[in-house]
Amino acid sequence: MYSNTKALIMASIIMGAALAPAALHARTNSEYDARFIDWPTYSGDDLELSVDNDMTRFRLWSPKAEAVRLNLYDNGHTGKAYSTIEMTPDSNNGTWTASVPGQLFGKFYTFQVKSDGKWLNETPGVWAKAVGVNGKRAAIIDMTKTNPEGWSEDKGPEVKSFNDVILYEMHHRDMSMHPSSGIANKGKFLALTEPGTLSPEGLATGIDHLKELGVTHVHILPSYDYNSVDEANLQLNTYNWGYDPQNYNAPEGSYSTNPSDPATRVREMKQMIKALHDAGIGVVMDVVYNHTAENDGSNFELTAPGYYHRHWNDGSYSDASGCGNETASDLAQMRDYIVNSVKYWAGEYHVDGFRFDLMAIHDIDTMNEVAKALKEQNPSIFVYGEGWTASDSPLQPEHRALKENVAKMENIAVFSDDLRDAVKGHFSAAEDRGFATGKPGNEETVKIGIVAATPHPQVDFKKGNNSKFPYASSPEMIVNYVSCHDDLSLTDKLRKSMAGEPEENMLAAAKLAQTIVFTSQGTPFMFAGEEVFRDKQGVHNSYKSPDSINAIDWSNKARYADQFDYYKGLVALRKAHPAFRMNNAADIAHHLKFDKIDSSKTPNLISYSLTDNANGDEWKEIKVVFNGASEARTVNIKKDNWIVVADDGKINPEGLGTSKGGKMTVAPYSALILARK
Ligand code: CA
Repeated sequence: MYSNTKALIMASIIMGAALAPAALHARTNSEYDARFIDWPTYSGDDLELSVDNDMTRFRLWSPKAEAVRLNLYDNGHTGKAYSTIEMTPDSNNGTWTASVPGQLFGKFYTFQVKSDGKWLNETPGVWAKAVGVNGKRAAIIDMTKTNPEGWSEDKGPEVKSFNDVILYEMHHRDMSMHPSSGIANKGKFLALTEPGTLSPEGLATGIDHLKELGVTHVHILPSYDYNSVDEANLQLNTYNWGYDPQNYNAPEGSYSTNPSDPATRVREMKQMIKALHDAGIGVVMDVVYNHTAENDGSNFELTAPGYYHRHWNDGSYSDASGCGNETASDLAQMRDYIVNSVKYWAGEYHVDGFRFDLMAIHDIDTMNEVAKALKEQNPSIFVYGEGWTASDSPLQPEHRALKENVAKMENIAVFSDDLRDAVKGHFSAAEDRGFATGKPGNEETVKIGIVAATPHPQVDFKKGNNSKFPYASSPEMIVNYVSCHDDLSLTDKLRKSMAGEPEENMLAAAKLAQTIVFTSQGTPFMFAGEEVFRDKQGVHNSYKSPDSINAIDWSNKARYADQFDYYKGLVALRKAHPAFRMNNAADIAHHLKFDKIDSSKTPNLISYSLTDNANGDEWKEIKVVFNGASEARTVNIKKDNWIVVADDGKINPEGLGTSKGGKMTVAPYSALILARK
């Protein structure tokens, strides 16, 4: 809706407001970057390209350029420009314009900026919405012609509380590349549009697998155009996670069936989103506005040198991303860029959520503007991110969108590394064990995860391993997980930390770990394939490892059928019972009651109740007991008529059987869940 041709015609009439520089003040410690605060800005949505009935218009923001050229091409990556046009500076707003009669659909363009007396390399700009192969030239296409059938009625799932969301993090290649996937469009957006795909053992894969598992949202790893995979040589089968952004507003070409045709990647990504929406599944995009793949060679630098990245006082790139640079969300034009970019994906592509990579590189005000703009557009859009940086930043800590600052952000959630590390052991120490694998001393930190880091009278935050205070004021601010694409997969972590124990113990510990995630308050998140005990052969940073490491072997679904059934049961339990998804901190403090256990005498045991039909649950009381020890434990359960929901590695939301309570045994590395009406 935001920038198809029709919208652009409208926009060209009403556009033009410049941002107010008066609202700005320095949020960084960088004197070098202070020079950019007063640059004129431009917030019209006709930046770079707009096509109306009889004219193709170009407008590049580059306030300090000495001259700007527009190059027009017939081809997306080869051949010389058929026309080069000197652009004209517009008054006061820092932009340069050019107009060409007619609709130049099918043509390509680049900009070239003169800075310090030198012509910089060509760039497709920062707002290319379609690109040629490898993203070096922007493409002029009619976006309305990229819409799949039924697109105007397409809608993602309605979300009332973000705690109702169940996130499934996946990479396009991981899901479909393995021969066992039975999917034709391997590694492509279209992989998730294929119904009826089966593993060799006849079990559902692809989109049917997602429906069977019951997750509400997939979270796709970066799917904008990234730098590292050569789209002109796809036969090389190069793998990358995609955390090396190149063009933020066009899809990645290697996930399309024809990267040389600029419309194909746009259409196929929409087809994927439509297929997921038709299956009732939302789509969250992983966005990496925090850094660019290249420094001086990035589209930001080639467009407005110096502006979009942060620097130390000596003018060198600061590097809070650990990838060579970081962007400057505290500057108005960059902030506006991030806000407008997510609005574009939400509008043009119907994206249902955004996961911000290294979110604390961005400032709190920017993230609040992002969430506010998206909420106005679609209240079901879920925004969450990594509340940390990879390294130091000139951005002052009080302005960073850190986990510890989440209460200052509205409608934004952060990942709980508290629960993650406490349950399975430290993320970077492979052999380290956690609560679910028999290491004592993590009980209080697991409890912090269970209450979604909200204030609770029975949780002593000072004893937390990571954060020492209740940083969330609402459970909607917390995403709980035990593993993701980063670091060892859960399977590999268990194989390393439980080496020497039989595999059945690892399978049991995996179930226990995910039971903690799925029954905790907050929003649960899981890494694709762990429901079939997927591993990555012990490779923790598999960002460019081959498919042989990263692809999910779908024969695992038959091999670990019991594991899959358990995960499916966990998803079903959470969806059926709102007690696990209380939507405010007061309810959690009131309805969630821990049983007194002396962890120094009985470590690795947590027991609590969700009481008084919490959050409107049909169950009056739900008793949840986690035993992370390598031996069985006995617990005393109030005598009553209980439904046994989970016991010793089995789960059934309808009940496995009944119990009268009293002394009950909890098997090693397992969860016991009981309910009474
Ligand atoms: Ca690319």
